[in-house]
Amino acid sequence: MAEVAGWTGSRRLLKRLRDVMATEASAQNRLDRIVRLIAADMVAEVCSAYLLRAGEVLELFATEGLNADAVHKTRLRIGEGLVGDIAAHARPLALADAWSHPNFAYRPETGEDIYQSLMGVPIQRGGRVLGVLAVQNRTSRTYTDEEVETLETIAMVLAELVATGELVDPAESQGTQVEIAQRRLEGVRLNGGLAIGNAVLHQPRITIRQMIAEDPKAEIERLRAAVTVMHTALDHMLAADDLASTGEHREVLETYRMFAEDRGWLNRIREAIRTGLTAEAAVQKVQNDMRARLREVTDPYLKERLHDLEDLTNRLLAHLSGAVAEPPVMMPDDMVLIARSMGPAELLDYDRKQLRALVLEEGSSTSHVAIVARALDIPVVGRVAGVLDRVDPNDAIVVDGDNAQVFLRPGEDVLQSVRETMRVRAEQSKRYEALKALPPITRDGEAVSLLINCGLLIDVANLDATNAAGVGLYRTEIAFMMRASYPDVAAQTQIYSRILDLAGDRPVTFRTLDVGGDKVLPYFNAGTDENPAMGWRAMRIVLDRPAILRHQLRAMIAAAAGRRLVVMFPMVAEVAEFDQARAVLDAELQRAARSGAGAPQAVRVGAMLEVPALMWQTKALLERVDFLSIGSNDLLQFLFAADRGSPRVGERYDALSPPVLCLLRDLVERCKAADVPVTLCGEMASRPIEAMALLGIGLRSLSMPPAAIGAVKMMTRSLDVKRLARFLDRLIDSPQHSLREVLRGFARDHGVTL
Ligand code: PEP
Ligand code: MG
Repeated sequence: MAEVAGWTGSRRLLKRLRDVMATEASAQNRLDRIVRLIAADMVAEVCSAYLLRAGEVLELFATEGLNADAVHKTRLRIGEGLVGDIAAHARPLALADAWSHPNFAYRPETGEDIYQSLMGVPIQRGGRVLGVLAVQNRTSRTYTDEEVETLETIAMVLAELVATGELVDPAESQGTQVEIAQRRLEGVRLNGGLAIGNAVLHQPRITIRQMIAEDPKAEIERLRAAVTVMHTALDHMLAADDLASTGEHREVLETYRMFAEDRGWLNRIREAIRTGLTAEAAVQKVQNDMRARLREVTDPYLKERLHDLEDLTNRLLAHLSGAVAEPPVMMPDDMVLIARSMGPAELLDYDRKQLRALVLEEGSSTSHVAIVARALDIPVVGRVAGVLDRVDPNDAIVVDGDNAQVFLRPGEDVLQSVRETMRVRAEQSKRYEALKALPPITRDGEAVSLLINCGLLIDVANLDATNAAGVGLYRTEIAFMMRASYPDVAAQTQIYSRILDLAGDRPVTFRTLDVGGDKVLPYFNAGTDENPAMGWRAMRIVLDRPAILRHQLRAMIAAAAGRRLVVMFPMVAEVAEFDQARAVLDAELQRAARSGAGAPQAVRVGAMLEVPALMWQTKALLERVDFLSIGSNDLLQFLFAADRGSPRVGERYDALSPPVLCLLRDLVERCKAADVPVTLCGEMASRPIEAMALLGIGLRSLSMPPAAIGAVKMMTRSLDVKRLARFLDRLIDSPQHSLREVLRGFARDHGVTL
């Protein structure tokens, strides 16, 4: 009952506000009347509106209850006093005893010393704080959640009044963004790099023009019509051929469709309309509530479902406002794309020449869009909570992928330092470019082979761009991950053949499917293991489902007809697994020979060493393989029993630690003795200091993301590797946690460019 009374109250107040807003009076006059109305309606002695002015100050613009003389005189810095605190954190405060709050600041000219309680909310629009609306009471008063909500709804309406620009010139508040606490947003690093650009919202936010309804009945009817249209559109989506396949994909869509009919959700929207809001404003209000809940939900399944609901909200808003049919707007030249999440193909729809960076509210390093973005070599920061709420189209934005942070509407200081870093990096790239034609030979004459890792066709072009010796790791699973269904032999043959065409004379090492764990195929249910990285993945899957491996090898053989074929098997844990996989390959080679289809001119077969157990079968292994490739990403996580994707332990142990270097040196020596070439293709190879250590322990072949080639080549050419080997000999048995600093010291003392 209390709730119903609350709605009625809020509805009455909204209706009065609408009347005031509809008058011809000046904006200041309307604001004065609004604060009076609120004070009366909420039974508060004071109601004040503070608006943001140039210089990041909040100016008292209207008040009922405080000294009228203080209007346009009292100014607070952002963060100063309770009002400043509300603006700085963009969150409401409701305090029965305001005086005891640490941020309480008394302004004598206002006469507010006699008011004990305060409830204030930020006035925000499009993620920006435009001001603060506050009520105060003389006696100690506990404001209810519902009262806070009502004040927030009114602040939403006030924001529209402020946005007209009649009270404060919008140009003034453009330069004085508040959001002190929100301007730098943190996320997780999905790809390194630094970029400056202008925001483009992948799904543009819908601007609500009218907040208060003339006729709630008509609004409910508009809602009904929009929901019907939305349902039809979703049904079309579900019926689309490519999605009609069974499996998880469809289930996700069906659950999504079910949500669209969720009575609770639609009822809440209807209830908000009954309080006096337009259908759009009501949808937005329910969305705001949902976001508040989303922040508290930790269960990943539930969180995902709430995300679905949020997505639906956006769709419903689009249908209500007719925005679905609007043509796309002009894109800025330096585009920073902002999305909740997106598919890889959607990213490729944007003009690559204009795309500078990507910021996602969701996403993990293995999400497909992140993989594509990496191939495009743009910085990506993922899991940036609330970025969509805080950014407006065309806002200036800095994306610092290296440090997993984003600066919205950065100040000149940030811009200057970013530009300087970018300038230094551009100069560095020029220096790398100058090295492009030179061979990767150490200062003391040891030849090194630098190769690139690829996962997409567009990566292969980097062979020319970097002048690398070949592709040391082609992650074939990425093409599988991008598709909605399993690619058959013909489709795979086409992919591998294109890759070989593009690579020309340079060798490509195809790694067979490494799925499972965090690499999920939408059409293949690998089940759920408690420890997916150590679960049913890679070789384990394809040996249990040999048809998958057979088809893949058949396609590779066909694609390599008349050329050389280099294949390696990932996650081999024991020689028996290698033998099994090798037998499938041999059978396929025989099949190709029998069928008269062209056979590869030469076939080389290798294994990845990623599982420590294989270290103790190297003798047998090295008799069987043509080459070995060390997958240090997985090897290190299994060696230290530390999940490579965990922010807590992922970097707890150092790759440059004695156990790692001992193990690798040992392995390299065994390979040398057996005359088997060995490469390292994990991330370790891509960082100059790590690459230096790898050369120091005897490796001569490294495969890395293309962007790393320049720096690693520069290091290589400046290194006296024999001297480093002697230096490491003395240290490698040390009991230290890490040799990173000593290695850095070596580089400094001996002129190695890191
Ligand atoms: C590795 O584990 O080091 C590796 C190269 O494979 P991936 O990163 O694809 O697991
Ligand atoms: Mg691996």
